Amino acid sequence: MLLPLWVSAAAVDVRAPGSGSVDPGPVVAVLEDVSGAFTLAEVLAADRAGGFEKGAEVAKGLSLGYSRSAFWLRLAIRNPELRPIEQLLEVSNARISSVSLYVPDASGNYKAMVTGGDAPFANRPYPHRHFVFPLTLSPQSEQVVYMRVQNSSSLIVPLRLWEPHDFDIASRPEYMVQGWYFGMASAMVLFNLLLWLAIRDRIYIYYVIFVLAMAVTVASKTGLGAQYLWPASLVWGNFSFFTAISFTLAAFYPFTRRMLDTPRTMPRVDSVMQLMTWVHVLAPVAYWFALPVVAPYGTAFFGFTILFYGGVAVWGSIRRMRAAYFQLGAFSLLLAGTLMAVLRAYGWMPTNIFTVDGLQLGSVFEMLVLALALADRFNEMRREKMSAQSELVAIQDQLVDTLQASEKELAYRVEKRTRQLQAANARLEALSMVDGLTGIANRRHFDQVLHKEWARLERVSQPLALVMLDVDWFKRYNDHFGHQAGDECLREVALAISGVSRASDLVARYGGEEFVIIAPGNDGPQALQMAQRACDAVRELAMLHPLSEEGFVTLSCGVAYTVPGPESSPENLLGNADNALYEAKAQGRNRVVLAQPSGW
Ligand code: GH3
Ligand code: MG
Ligand code: MG
Repeated sequence: MLLPLWVSAAAVDVRAPGSGSVDPGPVVAVLEDVSGAFTLAEVLAADRAGGFEKGAEVAKGLSLGYSRSAFWLRLAIRNPELRPIEQLLEVSNARISSVSLYVPDASGNYKAMVTGGDAPFANRPYPHRHFVFPLTLSPQSEQVVYMRVQNSSSLIVPLRLWEPHDFDIASRPEYMVQGWYFGMASAMVLFNLLLWLAIRDRIYIYYVIFVLAMAVTVASKTGLGAQYLWPASLVWGNFSFFTAISFTLAAFYPFTRRMLDTPRTMPRVDSVMQLMTWVHVLAPVAYWFALPVVAPYGTAFFGFTILFYGGVAVWGSIRRMRAAYFQLGAFSLLLAGTLMAVLRAYGWMPTNIFTVDGLQLGSVFEMLVLALALADRFNEMRREKMSAQSELVAIQDQLVDTLQASEKELAYRVEKRTRQLQAANARLEALSMVDGLTGIANRRHFDQVLHKEWARLERVSQPLALVMLDVDWFKRYNDHFGHQAGDECLREVALAISGVSRASDLVARYGGEEFVIIAPGNDGPQALQMAQRACDAVRELAMLHPLSEEGFVTLSCGVAYTVPGPESSPENLLGNADNALYEAKAQGRNRVVLAQPSGW
């Protein structure tokens, strides 16, 4: 209801001290200059001809959109006071390429104050991050000023009229809030740079680049960059803003890639992000040469990229990826901050620190949440490392257990095999001592025992007797009865001879059909008796032998004995027994002959 009144008034009153600022937008009239080449004289003529339209009808909040035209704004300011009054006209948008204000002097001639984002900061009539123009209004007058604005991207011209002292006071907390933001960003940059130096994980460098680019974006948007960082730059204004956003989004890719391991977890999405990142890295070339042409597409692409990253964070969160929760949190805060700023710009939210500097606030929270994500990632990696270590230890323990078990098993098997070998050896040993046919001691055994007994009896000076026994006419027996019967006969004979010997004697098969008895401790007569008993025992077996003179199997025996000593030897004793046997054969067989004792 009140709006038409304002419009009909068509002028804004000066501000009294302490009354704050006023938005003169509703009384501003607008003229579009498509060619951008109008002179002030042409504009004044157009104004007289009614060429200006009411600004409020052209665009709410003087939001003029993407246009390459220049716009002329006409504003009438009234001073009802009786004294001249100083006022400040503020354009509270730092991102306008060109802003000029034409103000009439006392004689009505217009003078221009030329500035803008693409002009050096020194040109500004009032040193402030926004474009501020000082005005002096003569007593009880109405002054008409013309403002020419032109921009390389979207154009919004938020105007404010201030009493200078009020403006000064209102600026202080604003600057303080901006300083707080940049202090925060600097601390995060420095701290993460140190972390990168210490930990050498590249993700910290990506974070640092991301925060730096974000800070340049904010510096460009707020006009602080133009005031403090690049005051002499001529075309940097909007170019810096677009370039910084592109770099912010480009730096976010390697960060996300490392954070969510996207090449592995979502390879297709990763290649899209990679492509977008290349576009963002190369886009500044396009901004440099043709910002007014590409600006709308650039802005749309920023929006698309941010939504895409938001989507990636949502998708990662759905898949329960820890790092994605943090990214989602960070993004929501940034979006919420930006959204608040946008809603305020459209007048749907009140103007306060949270809404005016929503981007900064959101950005700070994003920085913090992402830093938290980095810390969490560090923790996660440490946890993984620790569990990997304990797993390794467990595997080692298991390995040691297995080794010990197999060592035991091996020892057990070796022992078992050793016992088997010992048993086999014992069997072999026994076999090697036994005659296969008769089961009595063989020649090897006989030799061993003879030498052992010889040595023993030599120590105790006791006699050793030896009996050699030979089957008579055995060749004929074989010839008559066959070899198998011969073998059977040899077994019977061996058994019979063993039967007459004592436990301390050794009966052995000397070879063929010859046997031998070692009789330790026996002298000649005792040995002779034993030989005779052997002869008798075989004769008593009464094994038929038709080709022998007796008609039965008989033995001839040669007996020798001696007390072992150095002057004699076992071979001698054996030789004597053999001679005695030969003698027995010569005397007609089936008899016993005692050799003459040597050394007796
Ligand atoms: P003598 O009364 O002079 O001792 O006559 P002999 O036939 O017994 O003696 P000789 O040395 O001429 O023959 C021994 C025979 O014993 C020859 C061989 O065929 C036989 N002989 C030797 N060893 C074995 C054996 O293991 N089994 C059988 N069946 N015969 C054997
Ligand atoms: Mg013989
Ligand atoms: Mg014989």
